[in-house]
Amino acid sequence: MKNAVLIIYTGGTIGMVQDENGTLHPFALDRIYDVLPLLKKASYQIDSYQLDPIIDSSNMNPSVWQNIASVIEKEYDNYDGFLVLHGTDTMAYTASALSFAFENLSKPIVLTGSQLPLGMLRSDGRENIICALEIASARKMLIPEVCIFFENKLYRGNRSTKVSAQNFNAFTSFNYPSLAVAGIDIYYKNDLIAPLPNAPMKVYKHFDENIAVLHLFPGITQRVVNSVLSIEGLKAVIITTYGSGNAPTEDWFLEELENVVKKGVIVYDVTQCKSGSVNIGRYATSSDMGRIGVVSGYDITIEAAVTKLMFLLGNYSDRNEITDLLTQSLRGEITL
Ligand code: ASP
Repeated sequence: MKNAVLIIYTGGTIGMVQDENGTLHPFALDRIYDVLPLLKKASYQIDSYQLDPIIDSSNMNPSVWQNIASVIEKEYDNYDGFLVLHGTDTMAYTASALSFAFENLSKPIVLTGSQLPLGMLRSDGRENIICALEIASARKMLIPEVCIFFENKLYRGNRSTKVSAQNFNAFTSFNYPSLAVAGIDIYYKNDLIAPLPNAPMKVYKHFDENIAVLHLFPGITQRVVNSVLSIEGLKAVIITTYGSGNAPTEDWFLEELENVVKKGVIVYDVTQCKSGSVNIGRYATSSDMGRIGVVSGYDITIEAAVTKLMFLLGNYSDRNEITDLLTQSLRGEITL
C-alpha cells in the first residue's frame, strides 16, 4: 500500500493564490494539484481536510487546536503522517500546543507555511510543502514528533520560534538543534529525534486559558504588576524575567509574588533571553523567587511555556502535580 499523508489546511499566507487580476484569495484544498501540479509525481497518497473557517493565524486559539487534534485523532490509523498548513505568525504556538496534546506520538505531525503566498512566483511555499510532505510521508525515517519545517530545516515544534517577518528562513530553535536539514538529500539527525514510544498514543484536548504573561521591564510599577496578578480566575502567570531568571528585589515586587503564590496561583519564571536557561538562585536577584515558590521555566520558549501551562491546567487539577510536571521535560521542550 502507498504511504499516505493527510494535509490539514488551517489558513495563513501560504493558502493564497492570485486570480487573473492579481488579487489574492485562499485556495480550496481540493485544488492542491492545480496549485502544485508537481505533487502528481509524488509516490505517496495525499488527502486533505480544510478547517472551517480558514484563518489568519493571528486568530488562532485553543478551540482550533482542539479541532486540529480531533481530526488527527480520528484519522491517526489511516495515515503515515500529517501536514498542517498554518500561518507563520502563531505556528510555533500551535506546534507547541499539539506537542502537548499528543503523548506517545508514533507518527510525524509537520507544520509548515510560507512568507509569500503559493500563488506568487517567488513563493517559498512550494519548497516548504513538498519537503514537509516528504518528511511526513517517510516510513523509513520516521519522526514521531510535532515539528515545524521551514526553508530547509526541520525543527522540534515546541522549541521553535518565529524570528523574521521578512526572511524566508523565518523560524529557528535557539536551545535545541534542528532535527533534519534538507539539501539534495534530507539529512536526518537520528540522535536528536525522539525515540519511538512503547505505549499507546493518548490525546489531551483541553487547554485552560486562565493564564497571563507579565513582561518585566526596568521601571515596571506595582500598579501594573498588581493589575495582572489580581485578574479574577487567574490560575498561572508567566513572568518573563531578565537573563538567567532574574527580577527586581524590591519588597513590593516580592510581596506581590508571595501573595499570589499563597493564593495558589502558579508563577512561572521564563527568561526574556532567546537562548540559555533560567537558573534560580544563581544571582541574589532570583533566589528570593525560589524561596517564594516561583517555578523555573529552564530554557523553555514563551510559546511552549504558554501552551504547556494551558495544557497542564486543562488536564490536571492538583497544583503540586502541575508544578512538578512543569519542571519535567514532557515532550522534549526543556533541557534539564
Ligand atoms: N498573518 C499570516 C498568518 O500568520 C502570516 C503568514 O502566514 O505568514 O496567518
